Amino acid sequence: MAAKASLDLCQSKQSKGLMWPGVMTPIILNAEECRTGHQPVTCLHNFAQKYGLPLSFQFNEDSGPGREITFTCRARKGKTRYSSASAKSKQEAKREACKHVLKTLNDHTLHENGEVCRTGNEPITCLHNFAQKYGLPLSFQFDEDSGRGHEITFTCRAMIGKTIYPSASAKLKQEAKREACRHALRTLNGHTLYDVKPKLSTNGEVYRTGNEPITCLNNFAQKYGLPLSFQFDEDSDQSNEITFTCRAMIGKTTYPSASGTLKQEAKREACRHVLRTLNDHTLHGLKPRLSTTPINQNAEVCRTGNEPITCLHNFAQKYGLPLSFQFNEDSGPGNEITFTCRAMIGKATYHLASAKLKKEAKREACRHVLRTLNYHKLYEVKPRISTSIEICTLHDIIAKLCHEKFETVIADIPNDLTNWKVIAGIVMESKSDRIFEVISLASGSRFITGKLLTTNGQVVVDSHAEILAARGMKRFLYHQIQKVIQGHRSNVLQLVQTGKLVLVSGVMFHLYISTAPCGDGALFTRSSGESSEDHFDHIPIFGKTKQGLLRTKIENGEGQPPTKHLQGSCFYQSMEAIRLGKRLRVMSCSDKICKWNLLGVQGALLANLMEPVYLTSITLGSLYNHKHMARAMCCRLDRNHTLGNLPFGYKVNHPVLGCVSHAKFPERNVTVKKSNSRSINWNTEDNCSELTDGMTGILQHNVLNSTSCQQRRTSRLCKQEMMKFFINISSDLGIRGIVKDDYVATKKASTQYQSCKNILYTTLHNQGYKTWLGIPMECQEMAT
Ligand SMILES: [Zn+2]
Ligand SMILES: [Zn+2]
Repeated sequence: MAAKASLDLCQSKQSKGLMWPGVMTPIILNAEECRTGHQPVTCLHNFAQKYGLPLSFQFNEDSGPGREITFTCRARKGKTRYSSASAKSKQEAKREACKHVLKTLNDHTLHENGEVCRTGNEPITCLHNFAQKYGLPLSFQFDEDSGRGHEITFTCRAMIGKTIYPSASAKLKQEAKREACRHALRTLNGHTLYDVKPKLSTNGEVYRTGNEPITCLNNFAQKYGLPLSFQFDEDSDQSNEITFTCRAMIGKTTYPSASGTLKQEAKREACRHVLRTLNDHTLHGLKPRLSTTPINQNAEVCRTGNEPITCLHNFAQKYGLPLSFQFNEDSGPGNEITFTCRAMIGKATYHLASAKLKKEAKREACRHVLRTLNYHKLYEVKPRISTSIEICTLHDIIAKLCHEKFETVIADIPNDLTNWKVIAGIVMESKSDRIFEVISLASGSRFITGKLLTTNGQVVVDSHAEILAARGMKRFLYHQIQKVIQGHRSNVLQLVQTGKLVLVSGVMFHLYISTAPCGDGALFTRSSGESSEDHFDHIPIFGKTKQGLLRTKIENGEGQPPTKHLQGSCFYQSMEAIRLGKRLRVMSCSDKICKWNLLGVQGALLANLMEPVYLTSITLGSLYNHKHMARAMCCRLDRNHTLGNLPFGYKVNHPVLGCVSHAKFPERNVTVKKSNSRSINWNTEDNCSELTDGMTGILQHNVLNSTSCQQRRTSRLCKQEMMKFFINISSDLGIRGIVKDDYVATKKASTQYQSCKNILYTTLHNQGYKTWLGIPMECQEMAT
């Protein structure tokens, strides 16, 4: 990689010439600062580039008595200033200044672990990590030799699998082991199997050993808001062996193509090409303009709505730099206090800032630092959302965040497995810091085949994208509860006096679906057309008698037929009938979302632990009609104000409804084959993608690489996994008693939820929307 090439330039003769020097002093830069014939200036530049450190020079000119000019030069590496050097010529002063730096680096920074691990890291740990990463067995052989004076010398030899590396000797056993690890690392390094990762790297944005090039490139494109796409070609040769060719494009720029016998490998190689090119061109000119104008105060500092203090903290954290603040209070003549604040990063101090409020002084001090960092190109204002599509409304933001996140989530999954028909996502908004974060995502448009329905809770029944996204959100909530229980700070949930968890004030959830949810919300829009209205007040239409009816998806059937009108307001299908071949029916997504708008998205189990959580908004990517969506999502619930008294905390929720304003988001799958039943789900807490088959309801095997989720059969979204989570949490909370004998009984323990659910079914039934149809009760009876 780029870093390695520069390493060779400045290596000392010793370590370059000898493979296994007897005495291990492999210093990168020798006493003469760099190899004979090399320029100190070049060496230092290479060094800085390798470690991603900004290198700059300060020059001064002093004219002496005889008008003779002396040039002074001082190098700065990041925030570290080195001794200045003077000379008659500017270039000579610069060269001298570089020598100072190199000498210092040689003395202090690059020690005997050069080429082996980062300063401060332990070679033994590095080698262990390496072996673990690649799943290789690492072992050590030790020998003790006593010399004439009974002095013991330890010899150690590392082995990775069957490969034995050169032995190392030392007076201490641990030192011999360490040295043996260095031998192994050096060899691995020599064979480009292992690379010392620079702590700070400009390549970090681009490519780091061990990282997946596809992910890196996706991250890069996302960061700069650039559209990334791939062109594939298949060529079969005479032996019928297929070669895949892939070419990456960023915006309109096409990069060199790459070939491989595997499609994924071709894609990976194509990404490497791009990253290499980006690296060479130092990414200049690729930075996007911000689509929103930052307010003046924060110009160059952070985006509108972002907090400078947070930005600076993030910056410091990212680079592992210590950030501190000095405060002073000054009372003026009228006893008015002025606060002054000065930020320090490491030993570097920045401009003093004053304000009437301490917090504002701190904020201003942060702005000073960020402005300075920005000026020195050490920091840049990152667009939170990319700018290839102009953002106009809340709905655009939500949609864009979901699509962008989805692209990064699927980056490691082979292309042909990621075709989607519908994607959905849930975005959390924190009003206090105005941050939007995608917390759950899914794609999918199938549900389980009746014959594969099981009673053990190990299958996912409904794999429509919005249903999976909501299940992912439940996992997110479980993780948050766990954090609260363990005493960690959660920005999402807090315990209240009732003993239940509630959302932290200002936390909201937004649902995105790339198209209208199946059933009542989508059906009439196809004939009556789309509308782009975006009402906070809902104006539903209750036209034809068919509008508002409960509908189901049906196995081997098109569309969503209405349910029947039965005596009861809820009817569970018969497991036996389905086993005998009766077609399974699953409630349409419109009806399920309508249910969430009364009962909350958290569902029955979580209702035992927390108060209901409602959606603040629903955004569609396409097929939006306000009147139909309003009716289907919520307004049909209280059309005639027929709802009884709802239990405490429950309400009819009318979320903000809307569609993306004008942007066309990718609709990938115009050509998706009907047979494609794959689903992908991801959530920010589990933080890896899961690939499932919507028609079997279980994980797809052996298609995801090892970086993805662990190899199981069941999806983390199935009933059983959710129940396990619930049981663990209940135990931790000391209320294991709420876990009943089986799943359905445990759900029924949430009595308020259950009574509200009865109100839901009865209300819909009484208004002529017919009977809610449940999946067979047997599917919910698994023991806890
Ligand atoms: Zn659906
Ligand atoms: Zn409504």
